[in-house]
Amino acid sequence: MQILTSPQSAHELCCQWRQEEKTIALVPTMGFFHEGHQSLMRLARKLAQKVVVSLFVNPTQFGPGEDLEAYPRDAKRDEAIAEAEGCDLLFMPSATEMYGDEHQTWVEVPGLAQGLCGRTRPLHFRGVCTVVLKLFMIISPDMAIFGEKDWQQLAIIRRMAADLNLPVKIVGSPIVRERDGLALSSRNVYLSPAQRREAPFIYRGLRMAADLAGSESDAKMLIAQTLAYWQKNIPDAEIEYLHIVDPDGLGEVGLVGRGALMVCAVRLGKTRLIDNIMLRAE
Ligand code: AMP
Repeated sequence: MQILTSPQSAHELCCQWRQEEKTIALVPTMGFFHEGHQSLMRLARKLAQKVVVSLFVNPTQFGPGEDLEAYPRDAKRDEAIAEAEGCDLLFMPSATEMYGDEHQTWVEVPGLAQGLCGRTRPLHFRGVCTVVLKLFMIISPDMAIFGEKDWQQLAIIRRMAADLNLPVKIVGSPIVRERDGLALSSRNVYLSPAQRREAPFIYRGLRMAADLAGSESDAKMLIAQTLAYWQKNIPDAEIEYLHIVDPDGLGEVGLVGRGALMVCAVRLGKTRLIDNIMLRAE
């Protein structure tokens, strides 16, 4: 596995692979790898001849007062994991190498980025879209793999790729969870032991809603039941949002039809956790 930090050298290597007619899959990440990241690497390994993993804690997607400085990092461990997963290139640029001093171009998908996480993180998806498009330009992948855990991000990237005619196939990959149901996240290390014990109730609430959706299709009722479950089991949790939305357009739906997505952001202390589940009425 090669490790490169310069966008130019990563671009040159990927151009060479393209000349050799190799297919390239890109897995964009912020590092501190866990099984969720590894599942994306494995899918990439299956789908393409060359696997590029980018590791970049992108400053432009963090708002003021968010955890940019505290974001967990362990480059050596990440290198070992990427290598063991059979990645061909680990691209880990610095912020200066990515943005320089004069950066002023931004990519926005304003409609889809407005609600859900965008409500409390107004510039987050602008930072995500901009860095992902930059990565696409540097690596020129045939496909890019994103986790369904960040469902809104995946929907936005799909929209961006379609709107800008990007020649990159966007591939979604299922959420990987701990045995107790908690969705894996680099931020889980922030949880205190007590919060870690509470955290699985987030998914248990979503699961309960998914079970209820078999007989109850009214979105308001399902949301009320889930909130009541959380109130009973994790009374200290701060529910930032809980919505049932159309999986593509992300607009709220009144009735669960063949497929509606329940999405949430929940704070346990200072740690903000997101999760989602597909609901289907029978
Ligand atoms: P991050 O490093 O948190 O920016 O995540 C990098 C990629 O891994 C994103 O596409 C995430 O959606 C994906 N990802 C993070 N956690 C999980 C998980 N538990 N299951 C599946 N994919 C995940």
